[in-house]
Amino acid sequence: VSGGVMVEVTGAQLVAESLKAQKVEYMFGIVGVPVIEVAMAAQAAGIKYVGMRNEQAACYAASAVGYMTGRPGACLVVSGPGLIHALGGMANANMNCWPVIVIGGSSDRNQETAGAFQEFPQVEACRLYSKFSARPSSLEAIPSVMEKAVRTSIYGRPGAVYVDIAGDMVNAKVERTKVRGVSCCSPPPVSLADHTAVTEAVALLKAAKAPLVIIGKGAAYGRAEAVLREFVETSGLLFLPTPMGKGVVPDDHPNCVSAARSRALLQADVVLLLGARLNWILHFGLPPRFNPNVKIIQVDLCAEEMGNNVRPAAALLGDIKAVVSQLVALIKKDGWKYPSNTEWWSMLREKAAANTKISKVSLTPLPYKTMNYYTVFHHISELLPHDCIIVSEGANTMDVGRTMLNNSLPRHRQGRESGHFSDSQTAKLRLIVLRHFTKFKSFINEVPGHFINMSHLEFSHLPSKKSFRYNLPVVIIVVNNNGIYSGVDAETWKEMAKLGDLTSVAPPVSLLPEARYDEVMTAFGGRGFLVRTVEELRSALQTSLSDWENPSLLNVLIDPSSDRKQQVLAALQRHESFCGG
Ligand code: ADP
Repeated sequence: VSGGVMVEVTGAQLVAESLKAQKVEYMFGIVGVPVIEVAMAAQAAGIKYVGMRNEQAACYAASAVGYMTGRPGACLVVSGPGLIHALGGMANANMNCWPVIVIGGSSDRNQETAGAFQEFPQVEACRLYSKFSARPSSLEAIPSVMEKAVRTSIYGRPGAVYVDIAGDMVNAKVERTKVRGVSCCSPPPVSLADHTAVTEAVALLKAAKAPLVIIGKGAAYGRAEAVLREFVETSGLLFLPTPMGKGVVPDDHPNCVSAARSRALLQADVVLLLGARLNWILHFGLPPRFNPNVKIIQVDLCAEEMGNNVRPAAALLGDIKAVVSQLVALIKKDGWKYPSNTEWWSMLREKAAANTKISKVSLTPLPYKTMNYYTVFHHISELLPHDCIIVSEGANTMDVGRTMLNNSLPRHRQGRESGHFSDSQTAKLRLIVLRHFTKFKSFINEVPGHFINMSHLEFSHLPSKKSFRYNLPVVIIVVNNNGIYSGVDAETWKEMAKLGDLTSVAPPVSLLPEARYDEVMTAFGGRGFLVRTVEELRSALQTSLSDWENPSLLNVLIDPSSDRKQQVLAALQRHESFCGG
């Protein structure tokens, strides 16, 4: 009651105010019945709202906020199909241990099971994709359910959470005095590893002939960069980042053995595994890629992760930043440092130098007019500012980009390469949110053509000068090979069309040649470049990098059979023989 007047609050307001109370700052979504008022209330409560074109993309963007800030972004979707489209983003966040809170509108409570508009068992559906999935039973319950959802998303192993808001609750009102507000949850509790395990770990490292530190994205998420650098320099140990662990300690640090990755993994006798799972990215920690007798020291905050695929010689359960501080303290106390004149060191140094030399020779830009992956990345790496966030995607683009583009700052590498469960959509939408979380101005997104196809409408968020939308400094580089893995050139495409219906004759890996993704960007008010030569690539990239006020897209046409010639020919031959060709 204010001045004798009863003050009421709606369900939408309670959702928005509760999110704000839990320090959720960003919301991405697609509105419609019944959640329009929720988005409006979120803006009124001071949450920044970004209207998207696809729920999956909205969810990826919200989860990128979670990764960059440690606080979940919110994803707002409508009932039924809207929520179902967001499931891809939820699954991705959950499997990659990134916090995100999805809020879905749903059918009115009194119509449930009666065939209501877009009725779907949403809470049940989300259970598989999240750590927590619930519907507040009343308006009064909204603040506590929101607090629990946000807390669950960041405590323990981070992940996705879902809150279902019945349609009739959105505009329903309740007296404000009847609602108990819930203050912001405390930051996640930090646990140290058991002291005995830390002592064991240091003893294992000291006794090792060929020790190796693997830095995963858990270290990046856990903001362990400062202490990890201290650890590497105090211990003198060699390290290898996973794709998203790149930059936690800079790639060009003298102790980084990325250039001798296979040899380092194969011959290490003790591995200190910091915030990475022994999944496919790390070849399960098993032979033939790992030494069968390797001793793993596993550091993770998730107890259930310990022992997956390989039983650890020491299990250090706790927060990486805290646990690495324990390790630093112990080795400093002992005054121990791994000598830099061991066989292991010199063998890996030599191997790294030899590999770098081989790559330099094989990556030298070809004299041909048509570029290949290596030519493109060679020039990108020469022009790229060191402080940009690189979001990369696609098999060849990602693999070549990973080895050729260095990172020197933590949390500056994202993309499918990062997770054991990511899909091709992930890269694009992350880039639109990143700027807010870093003082660095630049973003490079390199993706192959077909991934851009999937959500190019989201370009509409980028342009600034003309559309005054979100003013995001992004350069998108589409390494366009006219297909998935490989494609065919425009001439071959025409020839195939003469052979018969393209649905029967075009290799499934091929897509429309020379698709003008650059024009899509131009249509939304950004800058598009069609790039065919090295000169055009360098000039377009230099222009884009010199003026971040306008987002750019470089549509870089490469040899469609780059690195895959054999396969394209084989596919074509197969199709020709099907058609009697
Ligand atoms: P990568 O993609 O680098 O291989 P994964 O996603 O496989 O990394 O693994 C990341 C691991 O980091 C997960 O097992 C997760 O539980 C763990 N993790 C996340 N944050 C922390 C933290 N602050 N402290 C310790 N472990 C963490």
